[in-house]
Amino acid sequence: MIYVYFDYKVARFCIFMIAFFSVFRYNGNDIGADRPQKEDKMKKLIAALVTCTLTAAMLMGCGSAADDGNASTGTDVNAQITKADDAEQKDDASGDTKADDSASAADTKADDGTDAAATQLQTVKEGVLTMATNATFPPYEYYEGSEIVGIDVEIAEAIADKLGLELKIEDMEFNSIIIAVTQGKADIGLAGMTVTDERKEAVNFSDSYATGIQAVIVPEDSDIQSIEDLTGKKIGVQLSTTGDIYAKEDFGEENVEAYNKGADAVMALKQGKVDAVIIDNQPALSFVKSTDGLKLLETEYAVEDYAAAIAKGNDALVKAVNDALVSLKEDGTIQSIIDKYIVSE
Ligand code: GLN
Repeated sequence: MIYVYFDYKVARFCIFMIAFFSVFRYNGNDIGADRPQKEDKMKKLIAALVTCTLTAAMLMGCGSAADDGNASTGTDVNAQITKADDAEQKDDASGDTKADDSASAADTKADDGTDAAATQLQTVKEGVLTMATNATFPPYEYYEGSEIVGIDVEIAEAIADKLGLELKIEDMEFNSIIIAVTQGKADIGLAGMTVTDERKEAVNFSDSYATGIQAVIVPEDSDIQSIEDLTGKKIGVQLSTTGDIYAKEDFGEENVEAYNKGADAVMALKQGKVDAVIIDNQPALSFVKSTDGLKLLETEYAVEDYAAAIAKGNDALVKAVNDALVSLKEDGTIQSIIDKYIVSE
């Protein structure tokens, strides 16, 4: 393909040069009949000029063939240019090739939804794994000074590491996490998020990496001793969490007060605005520890699986996250992260 184009271009140029040269020669003879010495010089000059121009034409011919070539031809030509040029350009050329290849793979995926996705990892920002979370959920995600730390943060870091990506955390309201994932603003939602059928309609979930239990916090002197005792009481929850959803289903919307943060629900409990708070057991433990006069009911309202939410269609990322989770479970990383934050009594 390149050579056909190249030959055609050079041939065209040669014909042009021969034509030009003969006209020039004729005029030269005519004009310079009495100046043979000068004509010889002129011939040499023209020969040199023709050689230079032909060389330039050959180089230009190659260049434009590379530009005009299709993806694979382009790659080959780049490789040829690379050989002639320095190593730095080689890096650039191969970088470009990679980018082109992944772009065409993305096109393929978009066009026919085939398993191009299985081999290509698409993230919101190239080279970055963007995690949406709600950092009010200790020990999974919370602030330590200005830094967000916790089990989910360390698990996400380990996953990103496995995938060769840099982790970036976006802190937001809990009920914005799924929207951020579905709207392509975050790659994964990792927030002690329970897998539910309703959420599965909006996003895909990775395999589960931890178990969560919905727990009940009450004042130390409360007459509430069991789940049944919650009937007719005011229940505080964190908005859009499973605690919120189940409490509304079981005890009626009018009896449930939803707060943006779990800590706000606990504060309301402390102030007597609600009679109990339903929330995941680990944050519940940490809230009870840091707030005087509260206790946990020794009952499990619901047992759930935590998993990473990933946009529907990004099957390659689900697979990559699952593969990373398998090896992080196998080598004990997940357990050691959990043990670091949850000290069993
Ligand atoms: N596990 C609960 C849920 O998924 C709460 C999560 C949270 O508040 N971060 O709804």
